[in-house]
Amino acid sequence: MSVALTTAVEELPGLTPRVAGLLRTLGLTNLGRLVAHLPTRHERLEAEATIDQLASGANISTRGEITATRPVFGKRPRFEAVLMDHTGRLDLVWFNGLYMRDKIHPGVRVRVQGKVTRRGPGLQAVNPKVEVLSAEGEEPPEHEAAWRPVYPASEQINSVAIWRAIKKVLPLALPLIEEHLPEAFRREREMPTLSEAYRMQHEPASEAEILGSRRRLAYDEFLLLQLGVHIRRAYLRERLRAPALKFSEGIDRHIRERLPFVLTPGQEGAVREIAADLSRATPANRLIQGDVGSGKTMVALYAMLMAVASERQASLMAPTEILAEQHYEGLSRILKGSRVRLALLTGGTPRPEREALLGKLAAGDVDVLIGTHALLTEDVKFKELAVAVIDEQHRFGVHQRARLRASATDETSTPHVLVMTATPIPRTLAITLFGDLDISVVRGLPPGRMPIETRGVSSERRRDAYEDVAERIARGEQAYVVVPAIEPGEAGAGGEPIRDVRTVLKELEEGYLKGVRLAALHGRLSRETREATMERFRVGEIKALVATTVIEVGVDVPNATAMVVEQADRFGLAQLHQLRGRVGRGTRPSACWLIADPVTPEGEQRLAVMCQTTDGFVLAEKDLEIRGPGEVFGTRQAGIAPFKVADLMRDRALLDMARRDAAAWIKRSPLLAYPEEAVLKRRLMKSYGETLGLADVG
Ligand code: ADP
Ligand code: MG
Repeated sequence: MSVALTTAVEELPGLTPRVAGLLRTLGLTNLGRLVAHLPTRHERLEAEATIDQLASGANISTRGEITATRPVFGKRPRFEAVLMDHTGRLDLVWFNGLYMRDKIHPGVRVRVQGKVTRRGPGLQAVNPKVEVLSAEGEEPPEHEAAWRPVYPASEQINSVAIWRAIKKVLPLALPLIEEHLPEAFRREREMPTLSEAYRMQHEPASEAEILGSRRRLAYDEFLLLQLGVHIRRAYLRERLRAPALKFSEGIDRHIRERLPFVLTPGQEGAVREIAADLSRATPANRLIQGDVGSGKTMVALYAMLMAVASERQASLMAPTEILAEQHYEGLSRILKGSRVRLALLTGGTPRPEREALLGKLAAGDVDVLIGTHALLTEDVKFKELAVAVIDEQHRFGVHQRARLRASATDETSTPHVLVMTATPIPRTLAITLFGDLDISVVRGLPPGRMPIETRGVSSERRRDAYEDVAERIARGEQAYVVVPAIEPGEAGAGGEPIRDVRTVLKELEEGYLKGVRLAALHGRLSRETREATMERFRVGEIKALVATTVIEVGVDVPNATAMVVEQADRFGLAQLHQLRGRVGRGTRPSACWLIADPVTPEGEQRLAVMCQTTDGFVLAEKDLEIRGPGEVFGTRQAGIAPFKVADLMRDRALLDMARRDAAAWIKRSPLLAYPEEAVLKRRLMKSYGETLGLADVG
C-alpha cells in the first residue's frame, strides 16, 4: 500500500485500531497531522542502569518489578512502593500520591526516572516518573541517554503512547515532507530541511538538534505570516487607488488655525507622516500609536480636515457609543463656525434620522461622519470617503478594516486608513499582528501634564480613597469611580460579591460623598441619558461619575483629577492603564486609587506594576509577560492564528529576520508565481489566505 500524508491513521501500518481511534480524538486524523503534532518540550532521559549502579544525588532511569506497595494516610499522605531488579532494591515514594494505587501493584514491571537520594542503608526515589511496561511479554528496549519528546496529550492517550505511534510512522512520513525553502536560502540561514526538522523534533539526537529544528519551524511560522502580510501590502500599494489629497502650505496653515492647540512635537511628527501618506494615490494604512492622553484626536482631526480641504469625506470610528458621542461633541465645538458638516451615526441612531443621514452621506452633504461599528453596516455608503480613522484599534480586527475599504461607493477608490491605538504595542509585535500597517508614534504628552499618583489600598482602607475624592471635589475638582458591574447580584469566582454601580452610588450618596452631586454612567442607560450625563459632568455640574468601564477609552474631562477603581484586581493591566488615563489630563496633580484585596499572586503583581509606572510601554510589556499575546491583543478573535512553535517574546531576532527575508522575497517575486515557489504559496494560502484576504491577490 502506498502511504501519503493524507492517509488516515486507521490505515497506517503499525498502529492498532485502538491507538488510531485515540489519536483521532486529538484531531490527529492522518499521517500529516500526526507528524505535525510537535512536542511542547523535551525531557532528558538518562541511560538506563541497574539498581546497583545508581548513585545518590543522580538523575537515574532504571526498571524492575514492583514487589510491595503501601498507601500511607494521615497528615502526610503518600504512596510507597518497592522496586527490585536482579541487582538490588530501590524504594519509591510519591507524596500526595495516593492515586498511584490504581496504577502500581505488586508484580507490575515499571521503568522509573527521577532523582535518587540515600535513605538509611538504601536508596530512595521521591516522586519519580513511572512508566508501566507492557504486562504481556514484549518490553521496550533499554534506552541510551536521550531526549524524550513530551507531547500535548489527553486523558485518553498519554504522551508516551503518542510518542510510540509517531516513532512507528515517522520513517514513512519523512520522505513525503516537501521542502518549501530553496536550498541555498536555507543553507545560508543554517537551517535543517523541513523533513529533518520534524525528525529532530520527534527523535532528537542531541540538544543542538532540538534547538536547531525549533528555530527552523518557528522561522517558518514567522516567514509565512510575513510573506502574507507583504503580499497584501504590495497588492494594496500597487493595485488599489486612493484619492491623492491636496496638500500645501496654505492648507496646512488653514487646518492649524482651526486646532485649539499648538501641536506637540509628537503630534507634529505623526501629522507630517500622515500628510505625506494622504497626498499619495496609494491607500495609506497607518497605525498611530500614542499613549493615553498623548493627543491622538488632534492628529485624526488634522487628517480628516485634509480630506475636507480636498472636497472629500472622512470618517472616525470609535469602539463605544460614549466615545463616538464624545468625539462628536468635541469636534463639533472645535469646528463650530467652519464649513465642515459633521454627523453622528451609532447603533442607537433612530431610523428616520438614520435614513436621512445616509442620503446626505451618499450625496456628499456630510463631510465628516463619526460613529461606532454601525459605520460598517452595508448600507452606509459615502460619496467619496478619503480618510477613514479607526480609534482604539485593539478592539477591531483585520476584517473590519477590509470592510471599511469596501464601503466606498466608487469601487476603484479606497480610503486611506488610519488606526489609532493607545495600547502601546511593542513594535515587533505590532509588525507581526498588523504587519500591513505603517506605524507612527505620538511620543510624549501635551505640555503641563502633572504626574498621576497611583495608590493601591485594601478594601478596609476605602475611606482614604474617598476622603481624598471629597477634598478634591471641595476644591472644585471632579472624580470618577469605576466599578466592575452595573447591577447587584453577580458573584465572582471566589464567591465574593462583585461591586456594582447601583450599590456603590447609593453608598457614596449616603456616606463619604454625602451632599455631592453624583451620577451613574454605564452602557445600559439610553443614549440621551448618557449624553446628558456626560455633558453635565463636562460642565462641572455633576462632580463625580460612578461608572463601569464605558469610560475606559477616550473620555476627556481635564477637570477630573481623581479616580477610584473598586475591585481593581478584576481589571486587566491594559484596562487599568486606559482607565487611569481619564485623569491627569489637566494642569493639577491627579490621583488614582486602586481598591483591591487581590487573591492571586498575579493580581497582586498587576496592581504593584500599576503603582510603579504610568509608562504604557512598560505596562504593555508586563501585560504580555503575564497574559501572553493572544489574550492581550485579542488576536484569537482577530483571526490571526497563534503560532504553534514561535514565541513572540523569545524569538524576536528570528521575527526580524523573517520580516527582512519576506520583504526582499516579495520585492523579487510579488505573487510567488515561480514554479519553485508553488509549495510555499500553497502553504501560505492555507495558513493565511482567508484571514489576510489573499484570495483576490491571486
Ligand atoms: P488620546 O491620545 O488619549 O486620544 P486625546 O486626543 O483625548 O488623547 O487628548 C488628550 C487631552 O489633551 C485632551 O484634553 C486634548 O484636548 C488635549 N490636547 C491634545 N493635544 C494637545 C496639545 N497639542 N496641547 C495641549 N493639549 C492638547
Ligand atoms: Mg483617544
